[in-house]
Amino acid sequence: MALQFEIIHKSSRSRARVGRIITSHGVIDTPGFVAVGTNGTIKALDTAAVSGTGLQLLFCNTYHLMLQPGSKVVAEAGGLHRFMGRNLPIITDSGGFQVFSLAYGGVTSELKSAGAKKQDGSVLKITEEGVLFRSYRDGNRFWLTPESSIAAQKDLGADIIIPFDELPPYHIDSVALRKSLDRTHRWEKRSLDEHLKNPNEQSIYAVVHGGVSEELRALSCQLLSDLPFDGYAIGGSVGKTREEMRGMLAFTLPRLPEEKPNHLLGIGDLTSLKMTLPLGVDTFDSSYPTRAARHGTAFTREGPLNLIRTAVATSWEPIDAACSCHTCRHHSRGYISHLFQAKEMAALFLTTLHNITYMVDLMASYRDQILRDEI
Ligand SMILES: [Zn+2]
Repeated sequence: MALQFEIIHKSSRSRARVGRIITSHGVIDTPGFVAVGTNGTIKALDTAAVSGTGLQLLFCNTYHLMLQPGSKVVAEAGGLHRFMGRNLPIITDSGGFQVFSLAYGGVTSELKSAGAKKQDGSVLKITEEGVLFRSYRDGNRFWLTPESSIAAQKDLGADIIIPFDELPPYHIDSVALRKSLDRTHRWEKRSLDEHLKNPNEQSIYAVVHGGVSEELRALSCQLLSDLPFDGYAIGGSVGKTREEMRGMLAFTLPRLPEEKPNHLLGIGDLTSLKMTLPLGVDTFDSSYPTRAARHGTAFTREGPLNLIRTAVATSWEPIDAACSCHTCRHHSRGYISHLFQAKEMAALFLTTLHNITYMVDLMASYRDQILRDEI
């Protein structure tokens, strides 16, 4: 079955709303945080640890899984859920973001953080058919097209999949942006058609583009709303600054079908997140909480805590006294600080586990605030 979406409450103070997305692998409460598990795992955690945090939706990257171990290998294992041992919802992207990051370099990866790293691969050709690129792993050539991206996402079998799109660079003139948008819409339609041949209990979100141009965002919303997508992701360049992003989202979100869930692709920091909630964002993915953890930054209700600072080394308090995660129940700031100094891998495990739990709890408290019309 495709997903179902129920709106439980609309705030009287803003466009914020509380809802739930029901998939065949369980429920996703919205607004909800989506952690990034690029290679089929959250870095430093295993599947059981992730499930224990209460995280409901995990974002995996088709590009990486296609190259290693290969989508056919995952299909042979019975799909990504079985392969990972995860019996909860998963979303995969199309691979387009990573491929175009290779083509356009750092601009897009600065603006977004959906698991993109500078990798030594290269794009050989971009045509109406799709993109020909060279694998960073072994130098083999791959065609990524709307059809091949959907085929790979069928092999992976995530609950929610994303059509193949073009991610233009931020600095692009309006004529080139319009051409890119038109092609993205043709590619998304081809992706949808391919998906509908075999829906396979999966749902597909469109990706709304148009950069920071209101005219093009409106056009993208219009065209994609007319197609039978199950939800709407907001992609492309969402702006260089927080204010630019806020303006773009305030303009775009009211133009999407209200009865379908939306997703903000690759949002950065906690301040941006808080800013987007009143605009009506349902889910968003971010690699920031897990990346920050690996660099020694733990989130707390009093603000970020740098565990590598020497001042923390003799503190026997938990990271956050109000947190009930495994890390905070069993270990002190001082001990985890020591693990970072000694370069022990457990430091990454314990801090990542805490940050994911923090995000899950934070979203639950935001949902409560929306239910009370405080947001
Ligand atoms: Zn904790």
